[in-house]
Amino acid sequence: MTKILVVEDEPTMQVGLKDNLEFEGYDVNVVNNGKSGLDELTNNTYDLVVLDVMLPQMSGFDVLRKAREKGVGTPVIMLTAKGEEIDKVLGLELGADDYVTKPFSLRELIARVKAVLRRQQSGGQASSVRMKLGDAEIDFSAYTATRGGKEVAMTPKEFDILNFLWQHRNTVVSRDQLLTNVWGYDESISTRTVDNFVLKLRQKLETDPAHPRHIITIHGTGYKLIV
Ligand code: CA
Repeated sequence: MTKILVVEDEPTMQVGLKDNLEFEGYDVNVVNNGKSGLDELTNNTYDLVVLDVMLPQMSGFDVLRKAREKGVGTPVIMLTAKGEEIDKVLGLELGADDYVTKPFSLRELIARVKAVLRRQQSGGQASSVRMKLGDAEIDFSAYTATRGGKEVAMTPKEFDILNFLWQHRNTVVSRDQLLTNVWGYDESISTRTVDNFVLKLRQKLETDPAHPRHIITIHGTGYKLIV
């Protein structure tokens, strides 16, 4: 059964989210502050987290940052209150997979949840292979990466992008192709977001990120993964 963690402090939102997600057949656990959210994420396994930004004790941003630092790669959908938080959410430092802005319809949220889970599942099945990139090794089926034998923390989105580049290795992939195939829909996400994710991948996987040898920019077009 697909397990979803909801981190949200407003009682009406808690009830609405729990009821609707359970109606869709998910196993739902609700916690009402940031600290409990982080504890749950680090101590238990979830398929997805719905994470509010404004939370008691610890903000949703801090929960996500700390969880990623601990190597927790669980997909995250953030609930934001204001438009200006969106850049921060999509920003690479945080590695959220998607977001909805309050007020949102539960129908919209459910659609996002399904899309993120679907991407996660197809990403895992599409290439249950290991890839070698210089001194880095990536296992797409296990969602693990190492460099020089040391574990590299990568978000599901980063794996998905790398996976798409790997499936099209040694050919040019456009930013639009990445947007369409990795994000699945194009609203609100700009090609700049794609560029930022690629920068992050280089920092994690390239020996000299400023002079990448594997994840190459094709000027004016997109990227090419050279293996
Ligand atoms: Ca809140």
